[in-house]
Amino acid sequence: MAYKKTEHFDDEVTDALKNNYDQIISLLGEDNKREGLLKTPERIAKAMQFLTQGYQQDAHAILNSAKFKEEISEMIVVKDIELFSMCEHHMVPFFGKAHIAYIPNGWITGLSKLGRVVDVFSRRLQVQERLTTEILAAIKDTLNPLGVAVVIEAKHLCMMMRGVQKQNSVTTTSAFDGEFMKNPTRSEFLKLISSNLH
Ligand SMILES: [Zn+2]
Repeated sequence: MAYKKTEHFDDEVTDALKNNYDQIISLLGEDNKREGLLKTPERIAKAMQFLTQGYQQDAHAILNSAKFKEEISEMIVVKDIELFSMCEHHMVPFFGKAHIAYIPNGWITGLSKLGRVVDVFSRRLQVQERLTTEILAAIKDTLNPLGVAVVIEAKHLCMMMRGVQKQNSVTTTSAFDGEFMKNPTRSEFLKLISSNLH
């Protein structure tokens, strides 16, 4: 077998989570001995560890692992990076897209690393505002670019399924640093991410 992807879970954590979810299911009024639910606590235990794996990962290490010296001073934009996170107030998903730009100052990173940095911070309990600034800070700290910009557009299931039940609202957050504090640079970035060049 040339390629095999495996998942690893901490057995102690999985067991403890499993017991808690078993109790949660019965507290919610379900029969936790019902056939369809027998393996559910274990499945949730593993799914939740997957969805919060960002706590075990280090964005700085990921960016530093693919850092290349390059004399480029043009804006690098990666847009429409899919993201899935969970709101820390309700532990319900929010999901959408991140758009990232930076202007190198001698160092660039692998393009796929920007997507991985989005995953590191989104696979935790989050608020969209902090997710945006954490992504920006990791890029700023490791690449020391002339500027960084992060825009996130997301739909929050906690708003859509409960509470105000607004089905189509999209929350946009942004964070800018360095050159992107200046209007022309910021406008160029915003124009690039709103165009539909696919
Ligand atoms: Zn929420």
